[in-house]
Amino acid sequence: MRDLTSQWRPHGPQPLLLCVARGEVMALTKSEQMARVRNRDTAAELTLRSALWHAGLRYRLSAPKLCAKPDLVFPRQRIAVFVDGCFWHGCPQHYTLPKSRPEFWTAKLTDNVSRDRRQTASLRKEGWTVLRFWEHELRSSLHEVLATIRSSLEGERRYNNSGWRVEFVEALGPDARREHFHLVTLWEPVQRRLEVRQRDKHPG
Ligand SMILES: [Zn+2]
Repeated sequence: MRDLTSQWRPHGPQPLLLCVARGEVMALTKSEQMARVRNRDTAAELTLRSALWHAGLRYRLSAPKLCAKPDLVFPRQRIAVFVDGCFWHGCPQHYTLPKSRPEFWTAKLTDNVSRDRRQTASLRKEGWTVLRFWEHELRSSLHEVLATIRSSLEGERRYNNSGWRVEFVEALGPDARREHFHLVTLWEPVQRRLEVRQRDKHPG
């Protein structure tokens, strides 16, 4: 089996999962793919934790009686931080619907996005500031991520709005070269919009 680790470039245009779905790489089982993708999420979280530590910002990984599961928390200031994986949470720049079993992946994505919305809403209702960052932001704009967290800790109660996310994707036409991207906001009031994209072409 080829070592696929080096091919996994989450920030690049083709995530490993997509390569698998297109039949370019058939060596991994589904659970192995999932494990690798989840490891990427963990790596993004580790990047953030390490940066926070070096910046002298002390977080906790959980808080008692929390109605959701953020990736880390600042309990005293009631700040919950999530690092959202670009594939699992529908990043508008990087989400790609796998060609294999699109219904399965669509249902998965839609579920994840609605859970993200529910969790965000219930935390905010309980007085938490919710900060959500994309996995790719940990690579491309770590300084901004830290600045947002720091200013929230300093009492500037601003909510970062990671903006739109993909709720589901519909392939158009028999050759599916074009797709409808249905985008939704995570924050109330919920807004939706539609983008027509060429398959394999992404704004990011
Ligand atoms: Zn992304």
